[in-house]
Amino acid sequence: MDYISTRDNACRVSAAQAIVSGLSPDGGLFLPESLPQFTRSDIEAMSKQDYVGCATEVLSRFLTDFTKEELREYIGKAYAPAKFPPREVAPVVQLDEQAAILELFHGPTCAFKDFALQLLPYLLTASLKKTGENKTVVILVATSGDTGKAALEGFADVPGTRICVFYPDGGTSNIQRLQMTTQEGGNVMVFAAKGNFDDAQNGVKRIFTDQVFAQELAERGYLLSSANSINWGRLAPQIAYYFTAYISQVNSGKINLGDPINIVVPTGNFGNILAAYFAKQCGLPVSRLICASNQNNVLTDFITTGTYDRNRAFYLTSSPSMDILISSNLERLLYLLCGRDDVKVRGYMEQLSTTGKYTVENELLERLQAEFSAGCADDAQTAACIGRIYREKGYLCDTHTAVAVEVYHNYREKTGDLTPTVIASTASPFKFAGSVLPAAFGTQPQGDEFELLGQLEDKSEMHAPAALAGLRQKTERFTRVIQPAEMKQAVSDWLL
Ligand SMILES: *Cc1c(COP(=O)(O)O)cnc(C)c1O
Repeated sequence: MDYISTRDNACRVSAAQAIVSGLSPDGGLFLPESLPQFTRSDIEAMSKQDYVGCATEVLSRFLTDFTKEELREYIGKAYAPAKFPPREVAPVVQLDEQAAILELFHGPTCAFKDFALQLLPYLLTASLKKTGENKTVVILVATSGDTGKAALEGFADVPGTRICVFYPDGGTSNIQRLQMTTQEGGNVMVFAAKGNFDDAQNGVKRIFTDQVFAQELAERGYLLSSANSINWGRLAPQIAYYFTAYISQVNSGKINLGDPINIVVPTGNFGNILAAYFAKQCGLPVSRLICASNQNNVLTDFITTGTYDRNRAFYLTSSPSMDILISSNLERLLYLLCGRDDVKVRGYMEQLSTTGKYTVENELLERLQAEFSAGCADDAQTAACIGRIYREKGYLCDTHTAVAVEVYHNYREKTGDLTPTVIASTASPFKFAGSVLPAAFGTQPQGDEFELLGQLEDKSEMHAPAALAGLRQKTERFTRVIQPAEMKQAVSDWLL
């Protein structure tokens, strides 16, 4: 199966090449030329397998230049019991009669990004071999908080790779920041960048498209690549857990094989919900996909009106990993919804970069709305939701997950849709203890982040993940704050 750029149908590469380059040279994103189909009996066969087995089935249909044995080995290592809970890698917890929570935060960095970023280093290093590339690959990452740590953890001390992360200064939770600044490993670098996530992401994109710099790096034996969700190797692994979530609802008797479910995803860069859309397009019985945003609700407006407009205030919210106004992966959805019309997509993306907005045609909007619903929740609504779910169901969720739960409740109220629903839970509540404590327990947060972890443990009678509590013993290695304009120089100083 080949991969094609969303901005030029003539640009065609193998899966391994798509993973190595991340972004297409024309600025587009790679998509498989067709979508593999899973029949009812395929899904039934998967229901008898464990997570590694299911993920191998899914990925082997997309990454056809890898053998199934190779993929099984990588996937087995990525989701090994030492890293994810041994019995259920992605457990599903029933919240009420209709809604279940898909817990995606039991990996090493306590957010769903681990599903892709524990696997990506294996896929990338194998892809380098397959494409005959022997340069050291330099991963540049812009992060709104969780990708950075997950990528550092995945790539630390992986031979043949180096990794540099930029996070928005003051734009993450303290725990998220410490997770990154204390990262160990000889091949890692972390910078705080002034501005917000979009500034950091634009800075990274500028470095990627700087041909002179690429040439300079190549002469020194370096090759740039991306671990952001613009890389197909980031997106593909996320398709698997929608299959296992569906299967778990079948196995627990909540639904019969073939019955549809709805899926709700707290969304930022549109990667995770796009993976759910792919699962649906591959034959998983999914009815509606519900896109949940925080106060940065550019996607809610787009899905309801057809106009994408990033010219608006940017808010720092209690769900910082969703503080994004340019959702890169939307480009992939547009491409598929307009029948793979690369010229049209290129036009929309040019408008976005010159005017900050575009409006899609009515026909495209109708197709979008036939699949997606959307809603948003501000910080007050999110906090109220955390409190309500804890009091009523005894379930403690993080701020990102609460945005999704709140949007789902509003959706259900408005539509009366009682279809069984899976809500993606993207982070551990302990990662955002400062917001979760007052929301769930009414206590004003006091003290540093570790005291907050302790207070949340006491109140919730749960243990904080060891990876977070253990940060207290670590020293901060990376404290430099730079301007977005200095990002390239910083990379250059580090490497050359
Ligand atoms: C990254 C992230 C999101 C947003 O996911 P996208 O794939 O960017 O839409 C939501 N919640 C958490 C906790 C995250 O880390």
